Amino acid sequence: MSLPEVKYTQIFINNKFVNSVSGNTFPTVNPTTAEKICDVQETDKADVDLAVKAAREAFRLGSPWRRMDASQRGRLINKLADMIERDAKYIAALETLNNGMIIGTSFSKTIGAVKVLRYLAGWADKIQGKTIPIDGDFLCYTRYEPIGVVAAVIPWNFPVSIVTVKLGNALTCGNTIVIKPAEQTPLTALYIASLVKEAGFPPGVVNVIPGYGPIAGAAIAEHMDVDLVTFTGSTEVGHLIQQASGKSNLKRVVLEMGGKSPNIVFADADLDYAVEVSHKGIFNHSGQVCLAASRTFVQEEIYDEFVKKSVARAKRRVIGNPYLETTEGGPQISQEQVDRIMDLIESGIQQGAKLECGGKRYGDKGYFIESTVFSDVKDDMRIATEEIFGPVQQLIKFKTLEEVSERANKTKYGLAAAVYTKDIDKAISIANTVSAGIVWVNVYGVKGGSVPFGGFKMSGIGREGGQDGLMEYLEVKTVIIKQPGRSNKK
Ligand code: NAP
Ligand code: MG
Repeated sequence: MSLPEVKYTQIFINNKFVNSVSGNTFPTVNPTTAEKICDVQETDKADVDLAVKAAREAFRLGSPWRRMDASQRGRLINKLADMIERDAKYIAALETLNNGMIIGTSFSKTIGAVKVLRYLAGWADKIQGKTIPIDGDFLCYTRYEPIGVVAAVIPWNFPVSIVTVKLGNALTCGNTIVIKPAEQTPLTALYIASLVKEAGFPPGVVNVIPGYGPIAGAAIAEHMDVDLVTFTGSTEVGHLIQQASGKSNLKRVVLEMGGKSPNIVFADADLDYAVEVSHKGIFNHSGQVCLAASRTFVQEEIYDEFVKKSVARAKRRVIGNPYLETTEGGPQISQEQVDRIMDLIESGIQQGAKLECGGKRYGDKGYFIESTVFSDVKDDMRIATEEIFGPVQQLIKFKTLEEVSERANKTKYGLAAAVYTKDIDKAISIANTVSAGIVWVNVYGVKGGSVPFGGFKMSGIGREGGQDGLMEYLEVKTVIIKQPGRSNKK
């Protein structure tokens, strides 16, 4: 397959592609080969200011966006969804070029983004307040209003999905948005920006500013005229964003961060099925998934058998060229991530876990790591406590329901969890006691636009998805009106 052509490399402000104020650019790389794809205009503080100004102007009272009927907003979002669907093959190929995601996943994530936008578009004219009975002769009602200028800070692991979910939520509620894609993966966000213009959104409603986190991202987080930052990425950067909000204008902060999700397999589960789902739960997208099944607890009766089958499955995993339909795993995103993952693998060996397979770099170019499985993993090892974000499976033994219920929660994270069993009581017990924003029973990773998703504890603040996700992008206003009362005589 020939590589897709890159069409947009400039900053997108006010429906125009422009160069950065400084004239600086930065390279973006194909992680499959480690070769440069192209240079992209680099956002600095001055460009952030211009983008926020454009978004503020587009949100001004009386602007075309503010005057637009909610039903028309929904139509525009549906139009954008149609265009992404029209260009899905190209967008998927571009995502794979810039991110290394296998082409099947890139395509299904692009179609998933279309579905999310259509789900959200349907909400645009259905966001409604309440009339509330109160004491006295008053009419009391609530209005759900847009917050204003939203800024989105995007990670590199699922650019199309995360750009569209944040953009879709912000626009459905009538906000305007400034989007900073990850430094590693700006290309699909810029292409989607071109579709925003083609769909007919007024200038300034959507702005896309590629650049570095500590420069462009920090300028967003500190900005006095941004009303909400919605962020997905590491817990470390989540801290910085919330601190910046506290030091500046107390902008709202929605954080979707890391996880160390427990994946609990009881002895009565369908063994082969649980092995396969647990394998995919950690190895999908080369482990670069916030909700990865990164601590697999297996009941002792089936532990040895589970390890044997999991190792055999990992050894069969096909990694390589992400454009081939037969490939199951592509590269990691960058040399920096490879170094982090290799350091954690080394720590696993040093701390006494058993390296069952993998553990080394793979191939002679690009950022590949072998599919790696550790057994005999203990709860306090680094590989059992830190987010690895790589193709590394941890298999941990447990004895009882009570014990695993407690151990599952011994983490600073609380993003997701899964349990495999034929016993409904065990499933419900885990679902009730685990600290996680989403729990799967006999399945892993199922989500959708209508599903609230987010973290307990240090995995997040707020939710993304469904009605709960929309609420993050709205202000509630209460209006109380004195009215002719029951005692009033005509
Ligand atoms: P990251 O730094 O948290 O990146 C996420 C986004 O935050 C990027 O757009 C990044 O810009 C931006 N950013 C970085 N520093 C910032 C700052 N000081 N102020 C505002 N924004 C800032 O994540 P990473 O360094 O790419 O990956 C490190 C680890 O984070 C991974 O190994 C993984 O554990 C975790 N992670 C989690 C998720 C998730 O979905 N939960 C996604 C990605 C990574 P740059 O692109 O320039 O860094
Ligand atoms: Mg980074």
